[in-house]
Amino acid sequence: MTFMNMPNWLKQRVFLTPDRRALVFENKTWTFAEMYNETLKKASVLSLSGIKKGDFCGVLAANRPDMIFTIQALQQIGAVAVMLNSRLTAKEIEWQLRDANASHLLFDSLHEKKASAISGIPSISISSNSTDEQFTPRDLFSMGEICSIMYTSGTTGRPKGVIQTYGNHYASVTASALNLGLHVDDSWLCTVPLFHISGYSILMKSVLYGMEVRLVEKFDASVINESLQNGEATIISVVSAMLSNMINRLSGTYSPRFRCMLLGGGPAPVSILEQCKQKNIPVFQTYGMTETSSQIVTLAPEYTMEKLGSVGKPLFPCAVKIDGENEGEILVSGPNVTTGYLNRQEANESSFQDGWFRTGDIGRLDADGFLYVLDRRSDLIISGGENIYPAEIESVLTSHHAIREAGVAGVADEKWGSVPAAFYVANHPVTSEELAAFCIEKMARYKVPAYFIETAELPRNASNKLMRRELAARWRDDHAY
Ligand code: ATP
Ligand code: MG
Repeated sequence: MTFMNMPNWLKQRVFLTPDRRALVFENKTWTFAEMYNETLKKASVLSLSGIKKGDFCGVLAANRPDMIFTIQALQQIGAVAVMLNSRLTAKEIEWQLRDANASHLLFDSLHEKKASAISGIPSISISSNSTDEQFTPRDLFSMGEICSIMYTSGTTGRPKGVIQTYGNHYASVTASALNLGLHVDDSWLCTVPLFHISGYSILMKSVLYGMEVRLVEKFDASVINESLQNGEATIISVVSAMLSNMINRLSGTYSPRFRCMLLGGGPAPVSILEQCKQKNIPVFQTYGMTETSSQIVTLAPEYTMEKLGSVGKPLFPCAVKIDGENEGEILVSGPNVTTGYLNRQEANESSFQDGWFRTGDIGRLDADGFLYVLDRRSDLIISGGENIYPAEIESVLTSHHAIREAGVAGVADEKWGSVPAAFYVANHPVTSEELAAFCIEKMARYKVPAYFIETAELPRNASNKLMRRELAARWRDDHAY
């Protein structure tokens, strides 16, 4: 697979079904032929600006059509898209660009100010440019070639640049179709960021499937609910915070045309899954990471209750195993798994072993082969020899009416080595005794947090993921003497 060639994807799509709808944004639509046209114009401008095959180009833009045309244009040129999280500071972006050895930074009008604060790299606006020059697209894509670089979210440490080849994306896109199936009238609602694999992979699916994408710039639960109720969209990718907002605002039901709520990115609280079941929402829980170019394990809705909390079984071309007797690190393998981190020899040596990729997550497989993700290895709390998973405690805490958000981290303890401390954002006042009593009913004693600390907000990274190492650091700072 690695060194196979394929026809240029977008060109092939336009050759096959030029008049199918490719993109809907606000009140505008584009067919694949129209999208190709816009893409070639962009490619022409970018190549006149000096971008050529093999260059690494930072992309700093909002979820707007210009960003899609730019991503496609880079593929036409054969340049690598280094996708940048727009919520990062200029300094953090500068670090990633340098780390990736990027030759250019491409930005849209909404990110002009941030782009101008980034030094040492030529930057090009993608917003208002046109040229009469014709761009000649390449005929073939090589599956071994690098298509994109995406930095991990930096939840457990410094972000790492993940290499995603054309072959990785192709494998991910087809693996998803082998699982979810393709419907000729599918429309995938994209409200997750295009700079993440969750959003970027929707674009790849669109071209390879010939499927419509409804692009949304900013997530608004009521607007999204409307799209799913009026039957415009049949599939949507969400993270649990989005889903919880949507459920809270939902009156009535979604359209029968709506067939898949793909839920991933992090642990899904059980209470959300139960609410979805009650409301007949077809939730597909999924597990994946930047390194697997999107989903690698997915749970079909018929198992949501029977296998409550499981993320399912591996997609067809993928394999999962546990490094350990019962619980242990999750190892994955498949053609969608990255070939490696960019310029990270040490991480590459420790992450790849005999064809398997070590995810850094801990999980277990049940007798039927369903995977349960327990937590990140680096966040595991070992208390008096017992393993405690912060995610489990957080899930219990957030089911308490007084708690809006919770984060649990291990803190030093003379007797037990380490004990869980719970940090929470409250909906209304609640005492530690009340919370402890609530936990005692729902979990083994040794898991009940030794401390409950109310806080105004929890530390989150630019992907809105909870950074438990910062909770632990906060505790250490407050208790240093
Ligand atoms: P970094 O690797 O820099 O610490 P990150 O792992 O948060 O950042 P991503 O690639 O965006 O970066 O996230 C993938 C991770 O998200 C997985 O390794 C896993 O820890 C978590 N995750 C994804 N899906 C699930 C899920 N369904 N249940 C539990 N955790 C999940
Ligand atoms: Mg990771």
